[in-house]
Amino acid sequence: MADFEITVIGAGVVGLAIAARLSEQHPNLALLEKNEKYGLETSCRNSEVIHAGIYYEPGSLKARLCVEGRDELYALCKVHDIAYKPLTKLITATTMAELTKLASIQKNAAKNGVKLQALDKTATLKLEPNIRTEGALFSPFTGVISVHDLMDYFFHTTQSNGGTVQHRCQVVGIRQIHSEYEITFDEAGKRSSITSEIVINAAGLGSDLIAQMIGIDIDKEDLRLNYVKGSYFSITPSKAKLISRLVYPVPANEGLGIHALMDWGGRLKFGPDVEYLENRTLDYSVAENKRHAFAESIRRILPSINDEDITPDMSGIRPKLQKKGKPARDFVIVEETARGLSGFVNLIGIESPGLTSSLAIARYVEKLLF
Ligand SMILES: Cc1cc2nc3c(=O)[nH]c(=O)nc-3n(C[C@H](O)[C@H](O)[C@H](O)COP(=O)(O)OP(=O)(O)OC[C@H]3O[C@@H](n4cnc5c(N)ncnc54)[C@H](O)[C@@H]3O)c2cc1C
Repeated sequence: MADFEITVIGAGVVGLAIAARLSEQHPNLALLEKNEKYGLETSCRNSEVIHAGIYYEPGSLKARLCVEGRDELYALCKVHDIAYKPLTKLITATTMAELTKLASIQKNAAKNGVKLQALDKTATLKLEPNIRTEGALFSPFTGVISVHDLMDYFFHTTQSNGGTVQHRCQVVGIRQIHSEYEITFDEAGKRSSITSEIVINAAGLGSDLIAQMIGIDIDKEDLRLNYVKGSYFSITPSKAKLISRLVYPVPANEGLGIHALMDWGGRLKFGPDVEYLENRTLDYSVAENKRHAFAESIRRILPSINDEDITPDMSGIRPKLQKKGKPARDFVIVEETARGLSGFVNLIGIESPGLTSSLAIARYVEKLLF
C-alpha cells in the first residue's frame, strides 16, 4: 500500500486550492513544497486581480475556469472573511484607432459570458476624470483579493481536513512502480522518498521539469516553460488618488498591458511589463533603467505622471508556454493515462488568470481523477 493516496507537488495558490479541496474526501494527502513556507513564488508576486474573463479564447480552459473561478472566489471571500474589493475595471481606448479594438474585446467577452458596458468619453471621464480616454469598456465583475488571506485559508483547510503540508521539501525524482509513484525529495539536505497512488504536479515555474522527471519529452511535446518577468513601479503617494479603480489599456500581444492597480497598503502601482528572461534564474530585481519606458506607458493612461513620480517596486515571473512573439497558449491540465501514467496530473503554464481560476482548477482536477 502506498504511503499517501494523493501527493500534490507545489504549494502555490493552485496546489493549495487542490489540496484543500481533495483533502475533504481524501485526507491521506501530502502537499510538498521546496520553500520554507507556502506561496513564496508566483502566487505572492502578482496583481491580485480577480479577472472577469474578458480576453481569453472562448471555450479555452483559461476562459471557462476564469469565469467559474471568479464567481466561486467572490462567494468564498464573503463566507470566510478573505479580504477582497469589488473595485471594477475600465479598459480605456487612448486613441480613436483603439476604439475599434474595444468592440472586438467586448464581443470576445460576451462569448465568454462576460457582459461589458461600452462607455463614451464623457461617461468614462465621469468615473475617472484624470485618465486619457476616447471611450472605455466597464467591467463590474473585476476586483482584487488578498492572495495571502486566500492561501492561508487553503493551508488551514488542508491541515484541518487531515492533509500533511511538508515545507523545505524539493522533489528531485519520480518513478512509476506498477500502479504507484515513488517521489524522491531533498529535505534539509537529506534525501528521502515516499510512495503515492496519485501525483498532481502543480509546481508552477518548475512544473515542466517535474513532467520531465516522469519521462515526458517536454521539448517534443512543446511543454518547456519560458520565464517571463513582469515588473511594477509604484506612484508617489501624493498622486496615488488620481485613479480609483483598475484601469487597463487595450492589450498588446503577450500581456494585458501595463495597468493601474491598488495594493492592500493603499499604494497605486502600474505594471506588469513583459520581459522574456534568457535563463531560468529567479531574478526579481526591478531595473531602475526601465523608469522612463515605464513612465511613458503610464502616461498613456495617466498623462500627469512624470518620470520622477515613479519608483521601482516588485516583480513576478510568469510560467509561460507561449514563446516570444507567438500566439497565446492555454493552460495545460491533463491526467496522463494516455501516456501510460494513470493517476498523474500535470498542470503546466498556469499563468494569469491562475489565481482567479484556482478554485475552478481544483474542481477540474478532481473531475479528472474521480
Ligand atoms: C506579474 C504577474 C501578475 C499576475 N497577475 C494575476 C492576476 O492579477 N490575477 C490572476 O488571476 N493571476 C495573475 N497572475 C497569475 C498567478 O499569479 C498564477 O497563475 C498563480 O499564482 C500560479 O499559482 P501556482 O500555484 O500554479 O504557482 P506558484 O505560486 O509558482 O507555486 C508553485 C510552487 O511549486 C513549488 N515548487 C516548484 N518546484 C518544486 C519542486 N521540485 N519540489 C517542490 N516544490 C516545488 C514552488 O516553490 C512554488 O511554491 C499573475 C502572474 C504574474 C507573474
